[in-house]
Amino acid sequence: MDEQQRELELKRLDEEIRGAAARLGEPLKGRFDPFSAPAILFTEALFYEASLLGASDIHFSPEAEEVRVEYRIDGDFLPRLTYPAAGHRRIATRLKALSGMNIAEYRLPQNGRISRDLYGEDYDLRVSMLPAAHGENIVIRLLPRRLPFTREELGFTEEEQAAVLRMLARPGLVLLTGPTGCGKSTTLACLLLELASEHKNIITVEDPAEYLIEGVQHVSLPANGRLTFSAALKDVLRQDPDVVMIGEIRDGDTAREAVRMAIAGRLVLSTLHTKDAVSAVVRLRDLGIENSFLAESLSGVISERLVKRICPHCRAAYPADAPALPDGKELFYGKGCEECGGRGTKGRMAVFEVLEISTRLRNALREGAETDALFALSREEGMNTMGENALKLLESGEIDAIAYRQILGLPAAEQKSPSARKGPLPAEFLAEVR
Ligand SMILES: [Zn+2]
Repeated sequence: MDEQQRELELKRLDEEIRGAAARLGEPLKGRFDPFSAPAILFTEALFYEASLLGASDIHFSPEAEEVRVEYRIDGDFLPRLTYPAAGHRRIATRLKALSGMNIAEYRLPQNGRISRDLYGEDYDLRVSMLPAAHGENIVIRLLPRRLPFTREELGFTEEEQAAVLRMLARPGLVLLTGPTGCGKSTTLACLLLELASEHKNIITVEDPAEYLIEGVQHVSLPANGRLTFSAALKDVLRQDPDVVMIGEIRDGDTAREAVRMAIAGRLVLSTLHTKDAVSAVVRLRDLGIENSFLAESLSGVISERLVKRICPHCRAAYPADAPALPDGKELFYGKGCEECGGRGTKGRMAVFEVLEISTRLRNALREGAETDALFALSREEGMNTMGENALKLLESGEIDAIAYRQILGLPAAEQKSPSARKGPLPAEFLAEVR
């Protein structure tokens, strides 16, 4: 679809969506015609529009008089339109029927899934309903079946790429860390896809399974919360896997199970919530893993952040006003153009910090080295920090000052106008890059 066709399609969808929304509050009259039922037209057109706009989620938030529909695009929450609250029950019923939920249930939370081909692309639509004061809150997550990246496109440096390949080629525990929504599950899926092409027996245990990959057995924990990761892993082991992916290590039992499997000769991949790669070691200790087991099992840690990329169509240079930078040094931001909807950013990119456990680091782990010592050693062993990788992206004009601050974990209120994305840079700037 070229740019002109896309514009026309968006205009057509907008008319359809507004027309259907206006009719949603009307009582049903005469004979029921399923092909013109506004709830059907409305939800279908939203699916298509959301996919065309690259939205990751559609939100329906009911209030007393009306229901707000919002899209999440590149992490931003953008209002779409509202419809009369009287029509919400019809929308909820339509989505329940489509996603295999109980349509008579509206007092309990429910989850479901819809498969859809949208413009030739296969999507999994994950529907979540949560009863609230004025009706059911609905969130639909759009997950493309085809992964958005290959491993080469993820954004690792050459050395990092080589380190990741070494970690995947041997038994051991490989962890991905970062905050929620940092792209960990996409990266994990890319790595699994690569392993799947090597004809290994791969089993994932997730809550619930996100990307479904051919050649991989995906096990979802039941929504009733009765089965935990550690309990599910005992059954997984009987299936003799070469590779096990655990959605998340949340407790000591799961951590111990993951370590045990890695020591027994399996490649184990999982995620943890920590700010950087070295902190993952501390977290595992906090979860009760002894230093000797940690040293024996851990292969590496990949820390990740996801930030907005400067729109390449309106990228502009400006003199950087940072004391630590040489005079005349330029940085970049997006001025805002039609391509990026005036936002100055287009799409997102991942930034990594890859810690490969070398022999020296393994010995230090065994001896119970603290965070600072492990960090210093990992630097000696050649690890690029997240801050260093972010600085390269800032200087090459891939990201702006706001994205840079976000990667470093510095507070930066989301800026509405593109020019506000120029700063502020941290006062110490380079000094803060560790
Ligand atoms: Zn632009």
